[in-house]
Parts: sequence; C-alpha cells; structure tokens
Amino acid sequence: MIRKLYVIITTSAALGNALSLTNQTKFKRSPVGGIVTVRAGYAQTPFPEWLTEFTGLTEWPGIDPPYIPMDFIDFSKVPDYKSYPQGVCGVNPRESCSFDCDKCVEPDDVYTCSKLSQTFDDGPSPATEKLLESLDHPTTFFNLGINIVNFPDTYKKILDAGHLVGTHTWSHPFMPSLTNEQIVAQLEWSIWAMNATGNHYPKWFRPPYGAIDNRVRAISRMFGLQAVLWDHDTMDWQLIAEDSNLRTEEQVYHDVQLWKRGKRGLILEHDGSEKTVNVGINVSKLIGDDQLTVAQCVGGIDYIHQYAQK
Ligand SMILES: [Zn+2]
Repeated sequence: MIRKLYVIITTSAALGNALSLTNQTKFKRSPVGGIVTVRAGYAQTPFPEWLTEFTGLTEWPGIDPPYIPMDFIDFSKVPDYKSYPQGVCGVNPRESCSFDCDKCVEPDDVYTCSKLSQTFDDGPSPATEKLLESLDHPTTFFNLGINIVNFPDTYKKILDAGHLVGTHTWSHPFMPSLTNEQIVAQLEWSIWAMNATGNHYPKWFRPPYGAIDNRVRAISRMFGLQAVLWDHDTMDWQLIAEDSNLRTEEQVYHDVQLWKRGKRGLILEHDGSEKTVNVGINVSKLIGDDQLTVAQCVGGIDYIHQYAQK
C-alpha cells in the first residue's frame, strides 16, 4: 500500500507581514552539513515496498535525491523569488523574508522558546549515542534523511529516549539555491526516511544554515511542515572548523551563561561530531533539565502523523 503524504496547510502561513528580529546579526558562515557516509557492515533502513510502488526505485538515493511529483504540491502557488547561493543576499526584495540574509521570520516560524532549550542538528551520527546517554531531559533533534537511513538504530534510540525529531532535509543543501523541484525532493525524501525508519510524518523543519525564504516556506508548508529557527547560536561548528581559532568552548559556555539570565530561547547546537556533542552535554549541565522540546515550546503537536508499528 502506498503510504501517502498527508497535506496539512497551516492557515496562518499565508497571513501577516513578515517581521524582522531586532539585534540583527551580520551574516556569518554556517556549518557544512554533517553527512556521515554509510559504514560498511551496518544495515540501512530497508527500502520499503510502498516507496518502490510510489517511486519505481529500489534503494535510497545519494546526495542528490530525485524529484518525485506529489499531487498536493502546486508550483503555481510558490512565489517567484530568484534562487541564490549562500552568502549572496539582496537578489530578492525584502518581503521574500530571508532568515539567512535578514534574520526575517514569518508569523508561523518558531524561533524562540518560553524556556531556554537546546536543539541538535545534523545527526544521527555515531556521536549521537553519547549525547543520548547523558541527557536527562527531552530535546529536539533535526535529522538528515540520509543519516536517518544510514543510522536507523541510532534514530530509534533517539525516539525511544523520548526526544522529538524534525527534518533537516535529506542531505543538507542551501535550500534557496535549489529549484522548486529540488526543494520538493529534499523534503519528500527526508520525510520518507522518517516514515520508513520511525513510522511517523514530521511536523517541524529546520532549514540547513537557517536558509529559508518565502519560496522555500511555501513549499515546506505544502508538506504541512513548520519552520524552526533559533535565537541563540552556540556556533559550535566553529570548534571543528579547520581554523581552530574561530571559537573556544569557553566562549560557548560564557554565551550560555548570558542566555540563562534571559531564561528563554532556542539554542542551536549540532550532534554530528564528538566535539560538539561533548559541548552539548556541558551546555545541558549548565542549563539544567528544565527544558522543552520545540513542540512543547509552542504548544504544538510532535508529529503530523504516527503510523501503526509494523
Ligand atoms: Zn545543519
């Protein structure tokens, strides 16, 4: 049987004017995606029969997933903004509401939380398990589809531990640089990875690099997804950058202490490497266990759909 993608269009999505966050920070280089290659001898998520029926394919795609048309995706409703590569801003009018260029958010974007709470992007990875062993509070992971199918056991451990998972695309592209069809492909394959591995359909979507404008939003809303950004960035990826002078762990902890005074906010971290996981564990100790998942932050649902276990 074909497991269809359900369409839930968020009504608030089309409403309202874009608002810009105050204290705009200058565009900074963001992390590259933590795509982990398949480890020999470890089983991927089996490619499901229903997905073969739907796509005609028999295995999970590589970095560039193929576009499979979906009947609920209506390109005529996608605003005609130009695609742009990372760091190239100003090609579209301000009302395109780019978060990566202008820190612009739309009314249905989640970018903060009533309690100071961590989030982790780019997994699952081999480092994720150490994080799971240390955390004593539910948190939110934004996972890459390609990593989910390559690390299905870790993905299931994330779920078994009671954490929330949202999509971070299939393979971590800079979404505004893609065609509409490529954006669909990135989202649909990440959702299918979650369908096949975790028996659920995600609600929350964090765009890689925070790169989202109203073209990407329009397509993600057709999938029922809601964008999640952040208001506190640890910039932990700089700890593993080639230039090791960019940032120190102490600077991260110093920032966290400042954020604690404000008592609220959504913190961006990464579980794609051991170094950033270790920092995440320390940040968790600094903040404590009184944290929320993204769904709890806004009183929303965890998933659009949870399918019966096979
Ligand atoms: Zn990422």
